[in-house]
Amino acid sequence: MPGSGPWSTCLWCSRRRPGRRRVALRVVFDAAACTGHGRCYSLAPDVFEPDDAGHCLVKVAVVDTPELRAQVETGVANCPEQALRCEPA
Ligand code: SF4
Repeated sequence: MPGSGPWSTCLWCSRRRPGRRRVALRVVFDAAACTGHGRCYSLAPDVFEPDDAGHCLVKVAVVDTPELRAQVETGVANCPEQALRCEPA
């Protein structure tokens, strides 16, 4: 089904059509907006990790595999503070 799959969950990246997807995504993190809910590193542990206070740290700034792209998109979609976004790298 067109638009299905992990890309469709990303508010910032889902506009690209399946045949024109870019390979790499850059993670953009707004530390001032992060309040430490922990959803990002719980759902996407290969991309995000907690700091000592439970706030987000980005482990991998640019991802280019389907598995990591899916984790980035899941983390972005589930951040309640909109502290995360992704963009074409
Ligand atoms: S889900 Fe959002 S607010 Fe929560 S730790 Fe991650 S970036 Fe911060």
